[in-house]
Amino acid sequence: MFYTSTRDKSVKVTAAEAITNGISAEGGLFVPCEIPQVSKDFIINLAKLDYIGRAKEVLSLYLTDFTEEEIDYCVNGAYKAGKFSSEAVAPLSELKEGVDILELWHGPTCAFKDMALQLLPYLLTTSAKKTADGKQIVILVATSGDTGKAALEGFKDVPSTNVLVFYPNDGVSAMQKLQMCTQEGGNVRVCAIKGNFDDAQTSVKQIFTSDEIKAKLAQNNMMFSSANSINWGRLVPQIVYYFSAYCDLLNQNKITCGDKINIVVPTGNFGNILAAYYAKEMGLPVRKLICASNANNVLTEFLGSGFYNKERDFYTTVSPSMDILVSSNLERLLFHVSGDDDEFVKDCMEGLSEDGHYTVDKSAFERIRGCFEGGYCDDEATKRTIGNIYKKYNYLCDTHTAVAVTVYFDYIERTGDDTPTVIASTASPFKFSPAVLEAVGNASLIGDDGFKMMDSLSEITSCEIPAPLAAIKSKPVRFNQVVDREEMSKVVLDMLGIE
Ligand SMILES: *Cc1c(COP(=O)(O)O)cnc(C)c1O
Repeated sequence: MFYTSTRDKSVKVTAAEAITNGISAEGGLFVPCEIPQVSKDFIINLAKLDYIGRAKEVLSLYLTDFTEEEIDYCVNGAYKAGKFSSEAVAPLSELKEGVDILELWHGPTCAFKDMALQLLPYLLTTSAKKTADGKQIVILVATSGDTGKAALEGFKDVPSTNVLVFYPNDGVSAMQKLQMCTQEGGNVRVCAIKGNFDDAQTSVKQIFTSDEIKAKLAQNNMMFSSANSINWGRLVPQIVYYFSAYCDLLNQNKITCGDKINIVVPTGNFGNILAAYYAKEMGLPVRKLICASNANNVLTEFLGSGFYNKERDFYTTVSPSMDILVSSNLERLLFHVSGDDDEFVKDCMEGLSEDGHYTVDKSAFERIRGCFEGGYCDDEATKRTIGNIYKKYNYLCDTHTAVAVTVYFDYIERTGDDTPTVIASTASPFKFSPAVLEAVGNASLIGDDGFKMMDSLSEITSCEIPAPLAAIKSKPVRFNQVVDREEMSKVVLDMLGIE
């Protein structure tokens, strides 16, 4: 099985090359040339396995240049007992009859990014052995919060890797800062920069593409790689949990094999819901993929009209991981629904960067409409939903998940669709304590102390604080460096011990 580029169909690389390189040379994203197909028997067999077994089966369809031993090594390392607080790794929790929540936040950072970033280091080092002579991999991350921490946890003490995270000193929450600055591991470093997220991102890109720095790394048998969400190695692990959720519904006798389900996903960069699209295209029985957005509703407009327009107001919301106007992974969907038309994708992406918008043609739009529904809600509705479902179903969810639940209930009201439904839950409510406290009627307990707010939320709701969040309190701060943008490249070389 080979991968090509969304912007140049003549590209043909292996999975290992796609994962090591991250992005295609001309700027396109790697996509599978053909989407593997599964049978009913494949799904029935999958249902008999645990999460690790399911992951091996699904991944081996895509990573055909990996040996069975290599896939075993990667998957066992990522999802072995103890790494996730739930034995099921990604368990279902029933909200009400016909509606199950797929909890993707039982990993070490309590957000769904762990599902992919626990596996990516293994995929990347295994890929580099095949394609880059076992060079030492240096991961640079600019983060606005969640991704940096998940990358640090994923890469910590993974042999032959270093990970360096830059975050804007005044641009992350107090809890996110603590999560990163107390990070353990011998191969990690965290550094704050004076500036905002865009400054951090721009400087990281400059370092990443600097010929001078790249040459210095090469002299020391090192190379840069990226852990950001357009890497195929971050997408492919996410396909697994949609199969796994279907298998769990089968095992709980809520559906029989072949029955269709709906999947609702709170969406930012379009990565998580695209993984569900791949699962559907592989043969997982899915009726609708419901794409839920917050006030930054660029995708809702696109899925309703075929018009993508990033020239709009940007809102800072209580679901910050979805505050995005350019959903990078949508490019992969455009490639697939246009019948692998690389020229069409190139035109769309040029339109987006030059004019800020593009429109897809009728046939591509009809294909999109066949699979996807879009919806959005604002912060008020998000908080109302957290309060309502807590009262009605005794289920406490975070702000991102609440966006998905709100959009789903709107969809039901509009369509009456009673298909069994899985709603992806992307973070622990304790990661967003202030908004959740307000939503359950205790705004007076909002303060500056993140730990105190978690304690209050736990007391009020009798829900347990996830161990990794509670543990931060007793961990020493290891990193407190704050630098100017201009000093970032020096920090990189310094960490690697090269001049
Ligand atoms: C990253 C993130 C999202 C958005 O996922 P995409 O793959 O970017 O669509 C949603 N919720 C949380 C909590 C996240 O961290």
